Amino acid sequence: MAKQPQAIQAIRGMHDILPEQSPYWQWLEQNARQTLAAYGYQEIRLPIVEKTELFKRSIGEVTDIVEKEMYTFDDRNGDSLTLRPEGTAGCLRACLEHGLLHNQSHRLWYYGPMFRHERPQKGRYRQFYQLGVETYGMPGPDIDAEMILLTDRLWKKLGIRDKVELQLNSLGTSEERAAYRGVLVEYFKRHIDVLDEDSLRRLETNPLRILDSKNPDMQLMLRDAPVLLDHLGEDSLLHFNSLKGMLDDLGIAYSLNTRLVRGLDYYGKTVFEWVTDELGAQGTICAGGRYDGLIEQLGGKANHAIGFAMGMERILALVEQLETVSIEAGVDVYLIRVGEAAEKAGLLLSEQLRDQIDGLKLQVNCGGGSFKSQFKKADKSGAAFAIIIGDDEARRGEAALKSLRVEQAQTTLNHAELLETLKAWHRNKPIA
Ligand code: ATP
Ligand code: MG
Repeated sequence: MAKQPQAIQAIRGMHDILPEQSPYWQWLEQNARQTLAAYGYQEIRLPIVEKTELFKRSIGEVTDIVEKEMYTFDDRNGDSLTLRPEGTAGCLRACLEHGLLHNQSHRLWYYGPMFRHERPQKGRYRQFYQLGVETYGMPGPDIDAEMILLTDRLWKKLGIRDKVELQLNSLGTSEERAAYRGVLVEYFKRHIDVLDEDSLRRLETNPLRILDSKNPDMQLMLRDAPVLLDHLGEDSLLHFNSLKGMLDDLGIAYSLNTRLVRGLDYYGKTVFEWVTDELGAQGTICAGGRYDGLIEQLGGKANHAIGFAMGMERILALVEQLETVSIEAGVDVYLIRVGEAAEKAGLLLSEQLRDQIDGLKLQVNCGGGSFKSQFKKADKSGAAFAIIIGDDEARRGEAALKSLRVEQAQTTLNHAELLETLKAWHRNKPIA
């Protein structure tokens, strides 16, 4: 006997979103879209694959992402391409390419999968979804505050506001960071015995990133490390203090996290993260900051930019704990049809109902079956009503209507009556 071939499985760290989960995703996406629209943001849709060079030049050669997390391959022409690990670089590339940054300001968002070859665990995947926001042409700090307001509003809409906390820091200018870097490296060298292998490597390449280390053995040493905020110049301080003032006026609480440096090289001045302590080590649900310098780095004229990205899986993990989200996934009506004439009549009727009742969700039984088995499927569909057509009903131009959720006698109606009944019900149907 021939051996059955082994089933092929998905790639580790890349997950299917099954039908029973997708209503939650749609609910989250819809809330995010509405919130972004409320602040006048526009969607931009970008390729998933870009030239590898774009990410090397923007994210930085000595970051975790570029060093070890990118899905890079040669295409058939021998060009090095990469599945995007984040959206900031591609968005800016597109705006420069299409000349969108000449004397204009923009508020943009994009949504879709990102790819990083990380160790898969809860809240950390190899394909994951981000919703990203990027704005150009505004020096801040007013737009910096708007980023925070917008996300704050979204958390409220999603019912997770009391589970997240805002952390703020300022990374100053590249000159200020360079000066601070010297002081920091000196400090680390005095504590070189405490540094782990990763940190020793970063000491040469990207010492600010050491501040970000989660290694418990290094925490005491890191607590007393020199602080970048103490090395900011007047302009950076003014920017940061104005932002804090606006947040105070708006009643948005924050905590200063002087060790918040972000993983990417391109940030300066304002950086922020929304964090929760309910998701273990993967506690950042949204992170962003200002990256004025990146525009020139990618060949544009000096300009201003600030953005953020949120991790959709992590947000959903927070929401799922709530169990208060009412998600309506099923259909309104399930059409049962038994017999040849009934199948034909049912199909015609279903199309008429869809024509006449905009937004009605109607599922027609396909694949035959007895009344009993079709009723079972109707029940499982979550429908409020079943329309039942046998050959007798078909011949008479009638259909039976039965409520599946409330105790009510089944009624037999002609098509016009059925249409009116369903129309009235659909008009008054509570919106989920
Ligand atoms: P982390 O410190 O958790 O590794 P990061 O600094 O690498 O995050 P960003 O590049 O700022 O993350 O991405 C923004 C957001 O995208 C993160 O705050 C997180 O919510 C989400 N995210 C990042 N990497 C992953 C991943 N591998 N799986 C799921 N979500 C992720
Ligand atoms: Mg990371």
